[in-house]
Amino acid sequence: MSALFSWLLSGIRLPLVLASVALVIYAVFFANPYDMRILTLCGIYVLLVLGFQFVFGHAGAVSLAQATFFGIGGYITGIVATYFGAGFLVTFPLSIAAPVLLAVVVAVPVLKLEEHYFSLATLGIGLVVLLLAIQWSDITGGTNGLPGIPSIDLAGLVLSDRRSVLYFVWSLVLVGCLISYQVTRGLYGRAFHLMREDRVAASALGVNIAHLRFAAFVLSAAYGGAAGALMAHVIHVVSPENLDLALMVTCLTMTVIGGRTRIAGAILGAILIVFLREWFRVLENYYMIAYGVAALSVLILAPYGLVGALERLRVLLFGHSQRPKPPSVSEQAPQAALAEKYDHILAARDVTLGFGGVRALDGVSFDLRDGEIVGLIGPNGSGKTTLLNVISGLYVCEHGQVTFRGQDITRSPAHIISRRGIARTFQHIHLVDDLSALDNIALARAGIDGTGLFKSITTIGGDRRLERARRIALAAAERLGIANVVMEPCGGLPYGTRRRVEVARAIATGPALVLLDEPAAGLNEQEQLDLAERIKTFAADGITVVVVEHNLVFLAALAERLICLDRGKVIAAGSPDAVRRDPGVIEAYLGLGASEPLPVAAGVS
Ligand code: ADP
Ligand code: MG
Repeated sequence: MSALFSWLLSGIRLPLVLASVALVIYAVFFANPYDMRILTLCGIYVLLVLGFQFVFGHAGAVSLAQATFFGIGGYITGIVATYFGAGFLVTFPLSIAAPVLLAVVVAVPVLKLEEHYFSLATLGIGLVVLLLAIQWSDITGGTNGLPGIPSIDLAGLVLSDRRSVLYFVWSLVLVGCLISYQVTRGLYGRAFHLMREDRVAASALGVNIAHLRFAAFVLSAAYGGAAGALMAHVIHVVSPENLDLALMVTCLTMTVIGGRTRIAGAILGAILIVFLREWFRVLENYYMIAYGVAALSVLILAPYGLVGALERLRVLLFGHSQRPKPPSVSEQAPQAALAEKYDHILAARDVTLGFGGVRALDGVSFDLRDGEIVGLIGPNGSGKTTLLNVISGLYVCEHGQVTFRGQDITRSPAHIISRRGIARTFQHIHLVDDLSALDNIALARAGIDGTGLFKSITTIGGDRRLERARRIALAAAERLGIANVVMEPCGGLPYGTRRRVEVARAIATGPALVLLDEPAAGLNEQEQLDLAERIKTFAADGITVVVVEHNLVFLAALAERLICLDRGKVIAAGSPDAVRRDPGVIEAYLGLGASEPLPVAAGVS
């Protein structure tokens, strides 16, 4: 009982539950047939918006094809029901399958496009389908559309009165909400969150961005088709209006106003917009203006939608709800990758990459031995970060070869390289600010364990993969000495702690090789030594470590071997002592005529 109360009182659940109860009471006891029709339309729009949330909210891609999927669903229902007399059990699955098929076919070329081009391409698809619907009038009825679509017929049970249609549509809405919840609640949903916030970090953590975008697009098509089918049965006609841009704008407005990632947002947005239109109708010709002003004010005042605004209001009035507790036990990241031993875990041969006129990497070759800690040094702009980007697959080199554990990874995409066992941190921190440190670290498992849309949908109860990812994250946080702050949102943590969160996240992937890009930047000397000790324990576990660093105090305490880059070339490699004395290294650091002391001298003596 008390668990139920604390569930109710956290976040904005209480007002949402009360509002849902009020809505149900209104629908069951007070709604007249006209209200029932309006509520039925609301339910259909909720399905449309829930689908749109996958692609627009979760995947962060502005698709303008949602109305197209809706229209196709409607036309398929219209055609199959009027020409072949098929009932709902046939029309409904076909109306979902057709837009899904279109989404699958166009996904491959379209999803590769960058943001604006993606939106334009989806708009183009919509226009083509609209033209087809108008021109192919023998079948679609042209501009007049297809009238006389029968009511929902469930194998002989015809839903002819408005009340049963209302209940039926809203039970499908519940199913839609449930599927959306299953997809987004766990590690799979976290992968969406990471991809939306930070694509670079996502692919470096093994998240297959193409797969997620594809899944979101296909889901949006399925929901769009379902909504379109219901609409056709409910209003008994399908016309080009079901496909046009006005409907797309309505869908977009509902999503933005309700909240783009929340199920409650979809319901709130759909109901509000449908009712706003009804209420403002008394204004006759001015209704579009009033409707537009209302929509615009919500957009400006509540950029995260009404559900987001409610949440902020709650925080303003009552402060944060109690932070969730960290998991009670921790679990080490599985390191299956370490079972096999290699002489050289990584070999780079003649790696070359230019940007315009700049040769960022110019024939770089080196080997990494299994389990060693290597310092990668060199003046600013010498190509250190670029080299890490090539190894981790974020850049593809122009020529040359990188082999990792005996396999050529030169042209493998970043998420594959990550899954093979190379983890990294970034010179400029890549964390999701509004997630807790624990969840940021847990995202390390999103690419490895979090895949599988079907599994997400069909697993009942809490997502055990997310729970396990959190236990692994806690162990990694303990190793980095940040277990006491793991429940804080990352955005509020001090810089040095955020760097440690990134290192912990890299370790939580269970890597064979970690690449750390200036992990000690911004730390004081004491913190640097502490971090060096912790990194040494990774090597003791058999993990190979590459540390990019300027600070030789830090490196002296850590690295067995140094590699020095200058202007994209390896100018020295060997023991720290030998590299420090190398005339080429001294020259590179001093530059011609510069009077800066060599950091080597400053650091070690
Ligand atoms: P370091 O990490 O050693 O300071 P970088 O690898 O960041 O150096 O940069 C090496 C060179 O490559 C610099 O001249 C930099 O300006 C250039 N560079 C790196 N990334 C890009 C990019 N994405 N586009 C253009 N130039 C780049
Ligand atoms: Mg750099």
